[in-house]
Amino acid sequence: HAKSKGKNTYSVFSSDIYRHSARRMQLEIGLRHALQRGELRLHYQPQKFLADGRLFGAEALCRWYSHELGDVSPSEFIPLAEEIGLIDDLGDWVVREALRSCRQWREAGVEDVVVSINVSPRQLRSDSLLTTISGALKEFRLPASALCVEVTETLLMDSYDKAQSLLNSLRELGVSLAIDDFGVGYSSLSYLKRFPFDSLKIDRSFVGDMENNEDDHTLIRTIVQLGHNLGLKVVAEGVENQAQQDLLTAIGCDAIQGYWLSKPIDGDSFLDLVVEQTVVSC
Ligand code: C2E
Ligand code: MG
Ligand code: MG
Ligand code: MG
Repeated sequence: HAKSKGKNTYSVFSSDIYRHSARRMQLEIGLRHALQRGELRLHYQPQKFLADGRLFGAEALCRWYSHELGDVSPSEFIPLAEEIGLIDDLGDWVVREALRSCRQWREAGVEDVVVSINVSPRQLRSDSLLTTISGALKEFRLPASALCVEVTETLLMDSYDKAQSLLNSLRELGVSLAIDDFGVGYSSLSYLKRFPFDSLKIDRSFVGDMENNEDDHTLIRTIVQLGHNLGLKVVAEGVENQAQQDLLTAIGCDAIQGYWLSKPIDGDSFLDLVVEQTVVSC
């Protein structure tokens, strides 16, 4: 009996590996064609100032609908794109697509919205990001202040010197910089001093239970103070309800992003939201 059980366990195990590698191969092949086939999209998640309720920006989040596999999460395809050397092409597409949307919003009369993009570890190792960003800002006739680049702490660990010079160049160009997912991973407070950030995004894992968990609440209050003492704008991610928004307002956090405001939506829907708010507040 033990033997047959063992055998059974083995076959489940091996078919798991099979499924895993088959999916991975499909993903890899699919991703290589996704750009040319137009399967990638950007969705935009609105960001709001707590003081006056104004929507001041949106974070661009990459979406892939694969004809073979359906929707694939960026948490799955972004690391894969890095691994198989596609991240520079994908990242260049993200920059141009985000700035193209920003140009469309301006054509529609929305002048002052900032679009944020996420940048991967590998992208800070080559100069293509800087070239693409400065080229696309010219192409779409946008000031550098229309763009914010989000980087994670983990990323900065990986390629320190190169990252530093690239981020400095972006900053000199006038692009703003945000440290993403702050408080998780390999947080090092010295990053905040050494890199020229404009804003700090509190990871959503602290926000999720802050109305019930005293420790999370304390941590957020402390991070907001830290950010402000360093002259940074502080944005809370993953805000899902009114209670969290109220607590963050009381703490003095500058801005929020999360399902409470809106899920990530397409560029036209984002424009509708911003236009709607402008009409209401006039
Ligand atoms: P991130 O930059 O920290 O983005 C925030 C993630 O939280 C997004 O997941 C967003 O959909 C999700 N989110 C927003 N509000 C809420 C909320 O209220 N509750 C919950 N539970 N989740 C919320 P998404 O879109 O799946 O992206 C995951 C990660 O993939 C991003 O984390 C980012 O690191 C990466 N990513 C996405 N697009 C790109 C891209 O174009 N380039 C690069 N390099 N990375 C990207
Ligand atoms: Mg982000
Ligand atoms: Mg984040
Ligand atoms: Mg993240």
